[in-house]
Amino acid sequence: MTSLPKCTNIANANCVTSPVTGAGTVALSPVLQLQNILLVPSLSHKLLSVSQLTSDLNCMVLMYPIFCLLQDILTKEIIGRGTKRGGLYYMEDMSVGQTHHTHHSLGVKEKELWLWHRRLGHPSFTYMKHLFPDLFSQLNKFDFQCETCILAKSHRASFPLSLNKKDIPFVLIHSDVWGSSPITIVSGFRWFVLFVDDCTCMTWLYLLKHKDEVLGVFKSFHAMVRTQFSAKVQVLRSDNGGEYVDHQFREYFQQHGIIHETSCPQTPQ
Ligand SMILES: [Zn+2]
Repeated sequence: MTSLPKCTNIANANCVTSPVTGAGTVALSPVLQLQNILLVPSLSHKLLSVSQLTSDLNCMVLMYPIFCLLQDILTKEIIGRGTKRGGLYYMEDMSVGQTHHTHHSLGVKEKELWLWHRRLGHPSFTYMKHLFPDLFSQLNKFDFQCETCILAKSHRASFPLSLNKKDIPFVLIHSDVWGSSPITIVSGFRWFVLFVDDCTCMTWLYLLKHKDEVLGVFKSFHAMVRTQFSAKVQVLRSDNGGEYVDHQFREYFQQHGIIHETSCPQTPQ
């Protein structure tokens, strides 16, 4: 395809000429606007001129064995993709699957804003509003979400889903004791103990004034489970925090046939 915008004919590799009946702009995606597109009715395929593409969009085209990428020279953003089929690269519809990169479909001001956000090492948008008031003045929204910022701030990977959940309620109870609270609440409580049923995730919270009340609280929880739900606690799982490993607890567990399992301290998952 010739790159001359005002021509009446184009010539292919065999020097066969085809008439151009019109010209105009075509949007491949919100960010891929192609100018000077020629309408040649006799051509069976829509062809893109790489040299025109790179100069019009100020981008580079990276050709790989099975796909190609269009990358903005300034922002390094991938603005287009193509896959190779039968020796030809077919452009993909870049508007599909861009929910994570909403800034592909932005106006000039918003693109500039994202560019500065990356250039300055991802500062907060509140701070950027002080730096570039004119960039923000023309935007009617202020809810920018930068995926990189969010990922960089999270300091733990998400916990994998537990695949060995119990099918029967109260068979396995997770427990943890927390305290002492730096602030004593009005009733004088400074500790709390949690019991979580593995099957249903139902949670019971008991407040304690002293740590040594844990055994009494567990006994009343255990009695409640037996009386109200006619169920049996088979395993109590806690961290190695020390509350459940004294001899009184061991005795109680032995009397009722409860197995005590421990996990690593400070591992709430
Ligand atoms: Zn960011």
